This record gives sequence, C-alpha cells and structure tokens, in this order.
Amino acid sequence: MNGKFWKYVPQNLELEAEEDLRNFLRYLLAHPTPGSAGATGTWRTLKPVIHVDKCVKCGMCWLYCPENVITWRPGEYPSIDYTYCKGCGVCSSVCPRGAIEMVVEGE
Ligand code: SF4
Ligand code: SF4
Repeated sequence: MNGKFWKYVPQNLELEAEEDLRNFLRYLLAHPTPGSAGATGTWRTLKPVIHVDKCVKCGMCWLYCPENVITWRPGEYPSIDYTYCKGCGVCSSVCPRGAIEMVVEGE
C-alpha cells in the first residue's frame, strides 16, 4: 500500500439516501406494461374503491399493490388504474383505515 486507500465519503447524504430508496423501490415494485401482464380483461370479479373520506393519504396501498397500479404522492389521495388492477385486494387488506372497499365488479 502506498498510503492511499479508497474511502467513500458521501457528498450529500440526504440526496443519496433518497436515490438509494428510489432504486430499491424500482426493484421492489412491479412495473406492468401493456405488453407484459396485459390489461385486465373481463375476469376481474372484485374491484377496489377508495373512500377518500376515510383515507389519511398514508400511501400504504401504493407501497403494497403488487401490480403497481396505484398512483400516490405524499400529501395526495391515491388513485387506481383499473386498466391493470387485478382485484387481488392487497390494497384493501393493508389499508390501516379501512378506506378501500372491495366491491363486486359491475355493481
Ligand atoms: S386490488 Fe390488487 S392490483 Fe388492484 S389496486 Fe389493489 S392491490 Fe393493486
Ligand atoms: S392505505 Fe388507505 S389510508 Fe392509506 S393512502 Fe391508501 S386508501 Fe388512503
């Protein structure tokens, strides 16, 4: 050794932590596209409906939706893309406020 060694010094810890989190979520979340899983057809039997009067904008439904079809940003209500939603009910199960009701499709 010549006295020099590699040492990682974060330049902007907050920015780097956010970038790390975004990269992590990129792998954690599903990324449906029209060509992969495809649009949900007529086979979905249950449909999640968000009751915004109960919603506290926590984002849990967004985080856990396995199809990544829920759009949410901090401070906003979530919205669901029914084109790709499979009606699995995970969002409803994880919602801490019971704000997502699974209703029979077509009703
Ligand atoms: S029912 Fe399933 S696929 Fe549809 S929004 Fe909820 S978690 Fe996502
Ligand atoms: S998990 Fe429930 S309370 Fe939280 S953002 Fe989703 S609908 Fe709202």
